[in-house]
Amino acid sequence: MTSEASGELPLRELLLDGKQVPAADGRTFTVLDPSNGTALAQVALAGAADVDQAVAAARAAFTAPEWARMRAADRGRLLNRIAQAIRAEAEQLAHLESRDVGKPLGQAKADVEAAARYFEFYAGVADKLGGSTIPLGPGLLDYTVREPIGVSGQIIPFNYPLQNTARGSAPALAAGCTVVLKPSPEAPLTPLEIGRIALECGLPPGVLNVLPGDGETGAALAGHPDIDQVTFTGSVPTGIKVAQAAAANVVPSVVELGGKSPVIVFADADFDLAVGAVAGSAFGNAGQTCSAGTRILLQRGAEEFLDKLIAHAASLKLGPGLTDPDIGPLVAARQRDRVQGYVDLARQEGADVRTGGGAPTDPALADGYYIEPTVLTGLTNQSRCAREEIFGPVVTVIAFDDPEEALAIANDTPYGLSSYVWTRDLDKALRMAEGIRAGQVYVNATGVGTGIELPFGGYKHSGWGREKGLEALASYTQTKNVCIGFGNGS
Ligand code: NAD
Repeated sequence: MTSEASGELPLRELLLDGKQVPAADGRTFTVLDPSNGTALAQVALAGAADVDQAVAAARAAFTAPEWARMRAADRGRLLNRIAQAIRAEAEQLAHLESRDVGKPLGQAKADVEAAARYFEFYAGVADKLGGSTIPLGPGLLDYTVREPIGVSGQIIPFNYPLQNTARGSAPALAAGCTVVLKPSPEAPLTPLEIGRIALECGLPPGVLNVLPGDGETGAALAGHPDIDQVTFTGSVPTGIKVAQAAAANVVPSVVELGGKSPVIVFADADFDLAVGAVAGSAFGNAGQTCSAGTRILLQRGAEEFLDKLIAHAASLKLGPGLTDPDIGPLVAARQRDRVQGYVDLARQEGADVRTGGGAPTDPALADGYYIEPTVLTGLTNQSRCAREEIFGPVVTVIAFDDPEEALAIANDTPYGLSSYVWTRDLDKALRMAEGIRAGQVYVNATGVGTGIELPFGGYKHSGWGREKGLEALASYTQTKNVCIGFGNGS
């Protein structure tokens, strides 16, 4: 699987056309362990030449009989085998994910299970992508066929590499597409493992290629003239560039971008139920979750919830991912510094830092990229900390009086990814669900890290297109209409 690089660390190579190979120009990069800043792995850095080769391999594999002529039911069986193989390697995958991203081992294990579930879910759909017949009258037979769209270029972020690899590749493969996937340079290790596992399960060479690389690698893939579709998950500025690059070649894209998701807590909510779920959504994965509920809108009179939230946040234990703490480090020093910058900005904006606010004082954690879970009050929805995605364990709590005001504040954001409502009043819950402009509304529940069966995507700047669930298949198929005249009817 690996060959020795010049240093002591084994080199993790690109997965290209069924083979593990170094980058064409020999470049590599070092992945750091975010819990202590030491080198974790040396990884081949794919360049534009490798992207060209991978796209050519995926193009050839798309029409090669062993993939193109494989019966849909057999594709489903193959995806099920991949799901089982992921489960069989759950322990090592979870350890690798935990060390690479910094996430607590328990969360990494849940991510492995989610990755297996994606393959299992889409395995079950591979042989159900049927078309329809359209009645035109005598002498005419009209039917539609859902065909695979072709070569899918997939670019994923650092925060859920296992899940994002499976989330994009499983529906694409179920539909009969081939994939070139570029992981984040900050977390490339488990996507390479998924590629290896898929190959070992019998996926033909070139059907799933994994090319770790940086922004230039991503740009080469997004703008490649010979791909047929792009699935991008990441930040808004990069998503715009990717969508523009794809559009220049008339290539459709799905862009899953950031969020600043509101959590509306009414005074009649079950606070004990809500507080753990709200904290889990906001602070899980050290707050590096696109759908994290980070803008808490709290009804006046519900201050008891705030006290409970602050106490809960203050009780969370920080530590290296492998020790399975409540919160691990952020993925990289740049991410830690960015989050710290927002907390400093919040102070300048007049926030009260009710708990957290910086790096932990424990000397054992000094070398890792940690930020304590932080609760801010005293800011309005116009403050930058309430409007911009911080992508760390930081929440802003804003007061409201009545449901109309809650809705107005919830929707006063450029984003529209997820939203959460906590109330025992069905009328209020339905009013919020109707009025919130976001792709997901959860009432008395959170769905972070799961929801494989549910369509997922954003309104407004949170993106377009849907991943997950059956809706994801729309991105990987295209409809061909066949109209046949017979007899004298046409
Ligand atoms: P990012 O936008 O910096 O990078 C995402 C990916 O794009 C990486 O693989 C990166 O190497 C690549 N990239 C960078 N420049 C590129 C370019 N010019 N062309 C093509 N690719 C390029 O995001 P990140 O910091 O890795 O991840 C955090 C962001 O991802 C947050 O905004 C978060 O909300 C978002 N995210 C969204 C979802 C979702 O489903 N909506 C899920 C997870 C993360």
